[in-house]
Amino acid sequence: MLDRLNAIREQAVSAIAASADITALERIETDFLGRKGVLTSLLRTLGSLPAEQRPQFGSAVNALKQELADGIEKRRQELKELIGAVKIAGLDITLPGRSLPLGRLHPITQVLNEVCDIFRRMGFGVAEGPEVELDFYNFEALNIPANHPARDMQDTFYVDDKVLLRTHTSPIQVRTMERLQPPLRIIAPGKVYRCDSDVTHTPMFHQVEGLMVDTDISFAYLKGTLTHFIQHFFDAKTSVRFRPSFFPFTEPSAEVDIQCVICRGKGCRVCSNTGWLEVLGAGMVHPAVFRSIGYDSERYTGFAFGLGIERFTMLRYGIDDIRLFYENDLRFLRQF
Ligand SMILES: [Zn+2]
Repeated sequence: MLDRLNAIREQAVSAIAASADITALERIETDFLGRKGVLTSLLRTLGSLPAEQRPQFGSAVNALKQELADGIEKRRQELKELIGAVKIAGLDITLPGRSLPLGRLHPITQVLNEVCDIFRRMGFGVAEGPEVELDFYNFEALNIPANHPARDMQDTFYVDDKVLLRTHTSPIQVRTMERLQPPLRIIAPGKVYRCDSDVTHTPMFHQVEGLMVDTDISFAYLKGTLTHFIQHFFDAKTSVRFRPSFFPFTEPSAEVDIQCVICRGKGCRVCSNTGWLEVLGAGMVHPAVFRSIGYDSERYTGFAFGLGIERFTMLRYGIDDIRLFYENDLRFLRQF
């Protein structure tokens, strides 16, 4: 019986020494000294022993109980001092963990996704192309030959004579038409580059280009598609007007205005008191563009349009300086 007591002592002493926190220590206390613990159960077997052995065994168990209770109390004090020391060192291990800051999508990305979603629901697929582009796709195939005055409309970053940073997403429509035959219905979102910088221009900005080609596509398709898009993006009551304009790659061409979203058409600083804001360029694809990529310009017609995502984001949220988007100030970005 005494051997059994010694085994219990050894087991308990090493468990107490190994306990790393108060909870573990309390578990050991319950296991050995609790009402259903090892020593208590051992005392219950006292009656089965010969009468002359009972006093000696009883007092041995009680002595061990006291010894373990003292050991547990000592370890409890040690652990408390340890936690206290860590706290003094500036670390409170009992505090809950810190939550990590959550990232979120940039407002430009949010609006870009939203614009693409509206067109996707109208059956447009998304096409992509390179940002470093050949002169041919950026200008020539779009009816802007060398020395054409329209090249001055876009301040281009040239890599060399034949290579440049694309000034618009229109080269993607040329690349797509080269690969695929009509009917076509695509939008091409992406970054574009122009040598320009002020409160409404940055050297890099985002455009979404759109293109639809089939037999019998008329200007009415263009007007219907863009009106639907604008009234989905802003609101259903937004007035839209189409003004004649010029682009080398469309004929006829139009600029699309919406009623000023800030003053509702009454006139304000943002709309220069006109009540209207220009938001899009569009037109019927010029037959010369179809010819440059080998489409039959007698058989097919189509429309194309381009819009600036920064402009749409600024109008959506009433932001008056485009540079805020690229300063990476979290106080600004967290608002979206
Ligand atoms: Zn206005």
